[in-house]
Amino acid sequence: MDAAQPQENPGAPAAETPNVAAGPAPEAPPGVTTEAAPLPEAVLAPAPPPPERPVISTDPTPLEKIPDILARARSAQRNWAELPIRDRIDAVAKLKKRILARAEEIATTLHEECGKPVEEAALSEVLPNADLVDYWTLMAEELLDSVTVELDALSYPGKIGRIHKDPRGVIALITPWNYPVAIPLRTIVPALLAGNAVIFKPSEVSPRAGALVASLFKDIVPDGVLELVQGDGSAAEAILDNGVDAVVFTGSVATGKRVAVACAERLVPCSMELGGKDAAIVLSDCKLERTANGLVWGAFTNAGQNCASIERVYVERPVADKLIAKVVELTNKLRAGVDTSRITTQKQAAIVRRHLAEAVAAGAEILVGGAPPEGSLDFPPTVVKVTNEDCSLMREETFGPILPIVLVDSPEQAIEKTNASRFGLTTSIWTKKVRRARDLARKLKTGVITINNHGFTAALPAAPWTGTGDSGYGITNSPHALAELTRARFILEDTSGAARELWWYPYTPILRTLVFAMARARGGAGFFGRIAAFFRLIVTVPRRMFGG
Ligand code: NAD
Repeated sequence: MDAAQPQENPGAPAAETPNVAAGPAPEAPPGVTTEAAPLPEAVLAPAPPPPERPVISTDPTPLEKIPDILARARSAQRNWAELPIRDRIDAVAKLKKRILARAEEIATTLHEECGKPVEEAALSEVLPNADLVDYWTLMAEELLDSVTVELDALSYPGKIGRIHKDPRGVIALITPWNYPVAIPLRTIVPALLAGNAVIFKPSEVSPRAGALVASLFKDIVPDGVLELVQGDGSAAEAILDNGVDAVVFTGSVATGKRVAVACAERLVPCSMELGGKDAAIVLSDCKLERTANGLVWGAFTNAGQNCASIERVYVERPVADKLIAKVVELTNKLRAGVDTSRITTQKQAAIVRRHLAEAVAAGAEILVGGAPPEGSLDFPPTVVKVTNEDCSLMREETFGPILPIVLVDSPEQAIEKTNASRFGLTTSIWTKKVRRARDLARKLKTGVITINNHGFTAALPAAPWTGTGDSGYGITNSPHALAELTRARFILEDTSGAARELWWYPYTPILRTLVFAMARARGGAGFFGRIAAFFRLIVTVPRRMFGG
């Protein structure tokens, strides 16, 4: 990247600033003659315009600039991918120190732009990035190395095959506002190591965080390898219109479906990390204190604006009263603005307000919290006891600080209710009997299951983060993420001296004898039949390969 720090209003990019060398001469100071000896022709010739440099800005990127940005990324990607993997690793490894050195700046920006407590921002969006860079820089060489395919020497003599993991090329990365630093980095780091260029389109709600992420790569990777495009959905659509090789999308189900359709029309592979309606299943033998603490954090961190936020609790009846009392007590202790975030947007606040109102109208009981005055983003952490689950609060993604609790008769009933959702991101099970929880986990449809914990595993770079159903089909983190960021390419080398292959022309009686002998030798006959077939092969294979 070329520009220095993120700028609020960076002004015109270099190409649009007046070119003094080519423009009219500045006015001469009084008393100074403007008549001088004629200038040499080379000086008079208009200077070529300075190359347009990438700009790290919070302003929406003019849509007409997007084709140039794509072209710059495409050309930069070719050189980047040509570099030895060690060079790319050395470059990306520098990111760790830079992120940690700018920890306060990052956390403060997130506090100001999104309303997160500074500590929470540092814990969720700064510190895990050190592990992220460590993991990928340590593992990249091994994970991106080519793999030899073992070929049967009898059927495929003289042949060796290798699977190479080539970069996709230019990847469009479209991200949301709820974790606007951590989420993009989880794709940018492995994508760049794999030799891709990335066009990064942060959410229009968090452009400062987006610009900050781009600025982290300044002078670490060559210009064009990470390009920032600011703006709303129209900017993302323009990126897709101009041709990319893969799309990594994180956001809402509705937008994800539109992006998936756009990708399908272009036959561009895409990865979808979408919404959630995560459940916590609390069994009667849970560790009460730990469970209550975990539920309160899991539901209210980032004001519940977390794809893996706990949005449903299914608790077994015998422990329900005690658990609810503890959860209410802990929620009451949360300090507004110190422990809790504000809702980031009015649009989101309206959804949360509507879900709560509909649940109350359906009979839900507010145990603590409740909707703030109209227009306020300071939505207090709210715990509700739900008896009628036929409401949006129990079905749709709320993405807000509401913890609905439902009493169940058995773990099986909790599993059934959990699986009934169209979402399938994560589920937690809270019990002292871990082995039992492991058995229950196998019955769940969600992509991630945590026992006696919730939601934090997105911060583990070695662990796949993925959902089912309307939660999408993307995989972030872990070697599995490379399936989206690389393209498997198979190269076969044949050094066989044979005149022909088994399956080449002509189709002869010898070939017929040979293929059926092969079928018998490979299991189509009993012991003696196989022995006989082997002898037949010894005679027929050389005749086929080298004979007429
Ligand atoms: P959103 O869908 O409104 O926006 C996401 C991104 O898509 C933004 O950058 C936006 O500008 C862009 N966009 C909007 N219209 C577009 C279009 N027509 N074509 C292409 N891109 C377009 O989502 P949001 O409100 O920013 O984020 C919240 C959602 O993200 C929640 O549903 C949450 O669960 C989900 N999320 C999922 C994960 C996960 O890992 N599964 C993580 C974080 C957030």
